[in-house]
Amino acid sequence: MGARVVTGPWEDGLREECGVFGLSYPGRPAAPLVYLGLVALQHRGQESAGIATADAEGLHVHKGMGLASQVFGERLEALPGSVGIGHVRYSTMGSAVLANAQPVVVPSPWGLLAVVHNGNLTNAPQLRAELVSQGLSFYGSSDTEVLAHCVATAPAGDPVDGVRYAMERIEGAYTAVVLVQGTLYAFRDAFAIRPLVLGQLDGGWVVASETCALDQVGARFVRDVEPGELVVVRGGELSCHQVLPSPRRAHCVFEYIYFARPDTVLVGRTVHRVRRAMGRVLAVEQPAEADLVVPVPDSGTSAALGFAEQSGIPFELALVKNRYVGRTFIEPDPHRREGRVQLKLNPIRELVAGRRVVLVDDSIVRGTTSGKIVRLLREAGARQVHMRISSPPIRWPCFYGVDTSSRRQLVAAELDVEAIRQRIGADSLGYLSQEGLVQAIGLAREDLCMACLDGRYPTGSPDEQHAGRTALEVTL
Ligand code: SF4
Repeated sequence: MGARVVTGPWEDGLREECGVFGLSYPGRPAAPLVYLGLVALQHRGQESAGIATADAEGLHVHKGMGLASQVFGERLEALPGSVGIGHVRYSTMGSAVLANAQPVVVPSPWGLLAVVHNGNLTNAPQLRAELVSQGLSFYGSSDTEVLAHCVATAPAGDPVDGVRYAMERIEGAYTAVVLVQGTLYAFRDAFAIRPLVLGQLDGGWVVASETCALDQVGARFVRDVEPGELVVVRGGELSCHQVLPSPRRAHCVFEYIYFARPDTVLVGRTVHRVRRAMGRVLAVEQPAEADLVVPVPDSGTSAALGFAEQSGIPFELALVKNRYVGRTFIEPDPHRREGRVQLKLNPIRELVAGRRVVLVDDSIVRGTTSGKIVRLLREAGARQVHMRISSPPIRWPCFYGVDTSSRRQLVAAELDVEAIRQRIGADSLGYLSQEGLVQAIGLAREDLCMACLDGRYPTGSPDEQHAGRTALEVTL
């Protein structure tokens, strides 16, 4: 009695969106390497995982809820064929249910068509209504199913025409891989908001959300897929098509701040090095008188290293993370104020007692977790806690595949920095500036999406009410 099961997101950080992977590996089984690729991309989504492969018999699909290791186990042998696509999901449009797990499979003029997708289609509700009016039925409520049907309902031609037709109609952020007739079609929106890279492996080709997945399967990085580009892989042959003109690039800055793995290289920049540079700039912009720099593990670690290097204040791993706390767990006492955060993080008292701590994290979204961590440090005896954030305040929702589709979810949309400081109970609070962020990334500001920081959306401002994760469920 008194215990309760807690499920779903229980931290208030940003959620990763999804990870995609595709492999054409002539003469060898694709599924084991697609699986390894998904394990490398697991940080991008833990709600569901799936793989589709193709051989002479047709398409083979397995997907389920949970981590890739939980979903597949012995099942890889049931996925024959030398070409495959895979997906790990966190839901940003469509609920976290099996019906929305990917790959999504739909009938097409060329046979069964499977698709995996990372991003968010801002015009999915309108496209879905059109497709429904044409007599199509939908199985789930994800925008990926809309994307699949857009390809499959192209008026005429071959799959290249089908993908072209879809790319000309869909809006928003997408990196996607289609598998049909044993051929891979990988494509990216005209702004290149979400990452997609191309690699080579023993006469085969790989596409993946991040380079860490290429490393995992032993592939050599070749290049980023270009904005608006479609890459077609048939056996060991590659052909490239520039389908959409690119008005500008708009790479998501939160891939650098938080989403991507530190060992990934995004647009030529290793994520760990960029985060370290963010910490160094933060130390210049928001200095603090303190005795030690402590990261919130693991999201704040690289930036905290940079802060410590620049400031000369010693770096300490004074918060220990329990890596075995899942998304579902039993909370023994529902009245424990700090229960969930305390279960995941524990301060090393000997390091913090009587000391002035700079606490470094990558972002504050709703603000509740930051306040709890500050309290944990104080209860462990910290004399002062100075919170430093290696991103600027998030004031605007994201419509491109991150689960902040309303300003109501964002503490910095409502409160200024001093009010947030009071809410989280820190002695001081400092954010990285937008200019400092651009400097640390090292790309031109015009090549970055910073819409959740400055309200300037690269694709125009989509209607807020249609952008949430359940936007398509009202039309079911
Ligand atoms: S709005 Fe923010 S989180 Fe969304 S794509 Fe742009 S920079 Fe990334």
